[in-house]
Amino acid sequence: MRKTFRYRLYPTKAQEQALEQQLREGCKLYNAALQERRDAWKKTGKSLNYYDQANQLKALRAEGLLELANFTCCQNILRRVHKTYQAFFARIKRGEKAGFPRFKPHQRFDSLTFPSYGDGIRLLPSDRLRVQGVGILKVKLHRPVEGKIKTVSLKREAGKWYVCFSVEVETPFVEHSLFAVGMDVGLESFAVLSDGTIIANPRQYRQAQKPLRRSQRKVARRKKGSHRRKKAVRELQKAHAHVRNQRQDFHHKLAHRLVRDFGLIAIEDLNVKGLAAGMLAKSVNDAGWSGFFSKLTYKAESAGRLLIPVNPRGTSQRCSACGVEIRKTLKDRWHTCPSCGLSVSRDLNSAVEILRLGLSLVDETWGFSPCVSTEAVCFS
Ligand SMILES: [Zn+2]
Repeated sequence: MRKTFRYRLYPTKAQEQALEQQLREGCKLYNAALQERRDAWKKTGKSLNYYDQANQLKALRAEGLLELANFTCCQNILRRVHKTYQAFFARIKRGEKAGFPRFKPHQRFDSLTFPSYGDGIRLLPSDRLRVQGVGILKVKLHRPVEGKIKTVSLKREAGKWYVCFSVEVETPFVEHSLFAVGMDVGLESFAVLSDGTIIANPRQYRQAQKPLRRSQRKVARRKKGSHRRKKAVRELQKAHAHVRNQRQDFHHKLAHRLVRDFGLIAIEDLNVKGLAAGMLAKSVNDAGWSGFFSKLTYKAESAGRLLIPVNPRGTSQRCSACGVEIRKTLKDRWHTCPSCGLSVSRDLNSAVEILRLGLSLVDETWGFSPCVSTEAVCFS
């Protein structure tokens, strides 16, 4: 399985300028390749392929028109352009509204990828990293890189520089589990599990809102193009990065715990179109949710766990014990069933119902045992 190790870089002033220049050259190539494809598409209605463009690289570099130092890095950028174009054509094919892939301003072009380790980028002894076209940089290896390094990326984030090693490691062994759980995206909490666990929204996130808004106002107040505004933008990016890191950490830990404890995880399929009002209200968690979902997906996959998306329609309205429909509005936070007497929180009822639906989709003989509780427990 693939794993990423990320480390902070400490370039000198001159190295930082060299890094910036490499990014600018990369951006130039990206936009030029995009332009060429746009022109070809408009003129002939045909698309260029990756090789049409990659074959020009040598000449461009020989003429000094492209100063991105590493050749495979350039190829990687053309591959990126190719990918965005493929996605564009796929959208057209599906009959969706498709805008042309967009140009990137150089401030937004934040990374370079070296597709094969050792070609243009290499770790040296005593925390040094050699980068073609930049020099030997100081890197803080706060923990060792495990596994076999496949690709390397340089990233600029909020004025800081990072190197990310994508490595191939052996899939860790996970004990077989027949426990099954359902998970409901919470309205007030991050999620509720069918076994009664309430997973609260990470508190740091709400705490971080205040300084975030403060830095936002600071940027808005300052004059465009001024040095002081640039400084404020830097500060805002830093605040955003902080929140993002904390949220990702929370997602990783939660996904890890779920995959460790359960063999089957039933979850709402949030891609179902035309969601009910209750689901829309949950979209406050959206950005966070999809990030969590993708982490859970790959962790479940690499551990051989079943992740079952179910149609979320009606899960909050049906009684999870007897199936009777009990109409609720968003305000109704409690589920009380007159026909079977079940009395639990609305989210817990949904989680159990999601689990029931999930289990109905798998072979009974697999013998999963549902983890269900009628009592809520806070998890911290
Ligand atoms: Zn009931």
